[in-house]
Amino acid sequence: MHYVHAEAMSTETDPHSYAQPDKVRVTALDLDLSVSFEKHVLSGSATLALDWRDKAAHELVLDTNDLKIAKIEAADKSGKWVEAKFKLDAPDALRGAALHVALPEQSTKVRIAYSTSSDAAGLQWLDPEQTAGKKHPFVYSQSESIAGRSWIPLQDTPAVRFSYSARIHTPKELRAVMSADNDAGHALDGDFRFVMPQKIPSYLLALAIGDIAVKTTGPRSAVYAEPETVAAAAQEFEDVEKMIQTTEKLYGPYRWQRYDILVLPPSFPFGGMENPRLTFATPTIIAGDKSLVSVIAHELAHSWSGNLVTNAAWRHVWLNEGFTTYVQGRIVEAVYGKQQADEEFLVAANALRKAFADAPAGEQVLVPDLTGKDADDSLSDVPYTKGSWFLQTLEHKFGRDAFDKFLRSYFDHFAFQSITTDQFVDYLKTNLLDRHPGKMSMSEVEAWLHQPGVPADGPLPNSARFTAQNIQRSEFVAGKRSARELNAKAWSTQEWQYFLDQLPPKLSGEQMTTLDAAYHLTGTRNAEIAFRWYRLAIGSDYQTAFPAMREHMLRIGRRILVVPLFEALTKTPAGKAFAEKVYADARPGYHPMTRAAVEKALKAPAKN
Ligand SMILES: [Zn+2]
Repeated sequence: MHYVHAEAMSTETDPHSYAQPDKVRVTALDLDLSVSFEKHVLSGSATLALDWRDKAAHELVLDTNDLKIAKIEAADKSGKWVEAKFKLDAPDALRGAALHVALPEQSTKVRIAYSTSSDAAGLQWLDPEQTAGKKHPFVYSQSESIAGRSWIPLQDTPAVRFSYSARIHTPKELRAVMSADNDAGHALDGDFRFVMPQKIPSYLLALAIGDIAVKTTGPRSAVYAEPETVAAAAQEFEDVEKMIQTTEKLYGPYRWQRYDILVLPPSFPFGGMENPRLTFATPTIIAGDKSLVSVIAHELAHSWSGNLVTNAAWRHVWLNEGFTTYVQGRIVEAVYGKQQADEEFLVAANALRKAFADAPAGEQVLVPDLTGKDADDSLSDVPYTKGSWFLQTLEHKFGRDAFDKFLRSYFDHFAFQSITTDQFVDYLKTNLLDRHPGKMSMSEVEAWLHQPGVPADGPLPNSARFTAQNIQRSEFVAGKRSARELNAKAWSTQEWQYFLDQLPPKLSGEQMTTLDAAYHLTGTRNAEIAFRWYRLAIGSDYQTAFPAMREHMLRIGRRILVVPLFEALTKTPAGKAFAEKVYADARPGYHPMTRAAVEKALKAPAKN
């Protein structure tokens, strides 16, 4: 058997965690939490099962961020709870505060009584008016990258995996859901219990509580959402079972039993979050025509890449996101056709090339050095787009059959393990490069991983529609073709994304007015098109669009759809003043992560 335990192989320390998993490891978590919507606080206990690795160790070090620790107990040899000594260090800006628990007898269980702070980085508390229904409050977690420690004391590093169970006490009219075995038929009795038998890393711990309805979409899938949203969401995501079967055919069985989706209120800062068994998703992907459901393909793909085979530290996040973006493309190709998959990749590849035009070399490599940096800095376009581009290169060089076989064996080999890039490279060399000599050298692989930019042999698909559009767009920009003559009424979402991305940053007032008149872009409910149109409106000082843009920025808290608008506005003093006014109104509805990104943009000095 060539099985080597990842924990024994990976000696890299995680710079974003205080945990010392080489000494003692958390293997199971049992939560018992009550929610207070009045105080914006979760309180209760976390019981951790421990596996001691170092016979000389007598201390458990946990990650915390803004937690109030009331009491810690340890189980003695007879199983009796005895109070344990602990010390909470002063916090540091990147990691929060280390919690040291003295365990002279190497206890196998500790129980921590604690509560969260009212502004925990990993929780967003919504008042009733910030929900679709406007009647009930809502709270949800976002643990990736290292915000899990703001609501649970943990070894908060993706190198450590554990199973969990939970009991959540809620107000009677609300439903609690978790990244675990949700029961759609559960009575609204204020007492929810969950079990997650598969071992997961801490960033996949997830909880949401609110007025949440359920609608089944397939034999092992359902949509959870506010009652106002659930029908539209279920219709938009009706292809989920098809997507699961497609991915199983390519990469082996789906190992998490159910794949449900929770649609959150629009303040959710991401497109989606791959919480196992229960993807969290933004409502901004409900376009009414399934044109933005590749986000769901992406989150589903994480059930293999990320949740099953996990990056052992955040500098290796391309192992999660690059693989997932590649698999996402394969799902979209199988379910919605090659044209859509190719066009989505071209839109992303163009965005990456633009980003690389003025990014420092250190930010263009797939495996960056994150020492001393925020763990969330790892989540740029690079791991997603460059990572998937690298895998497309492998597919291109070795052929789809060989590469599919390789990838399937990779997921099997490292299932339920957390690994580093070096472990992937070793596996790649043995199982693909050496078996098909002469197709790709190790130095070519190293260039993809450790050099800036994109190697010249990165394949790009052809899109006849994009090529035709290039000509039309040039003619429009040069004033040789009118907006109406673009014949854009039948364009897909991807064609609109490509068109708006490829335009110069500033058009004339006449060009903006005629485009808007012909295609009603101001106020469009397709959030991806709207975002690009408003970015162009800022560059072109097309003020007609500003009231609708303000409404978009107030309604939506998804970072990639609002933060670039704030950034673009700050380039002129008038724009900056407008941005500050919008932000003052939008701030209460934004997630802490979105707030932080907008505040960073607003701090940048105005250029003009
Ligand atoms: Zn992802």
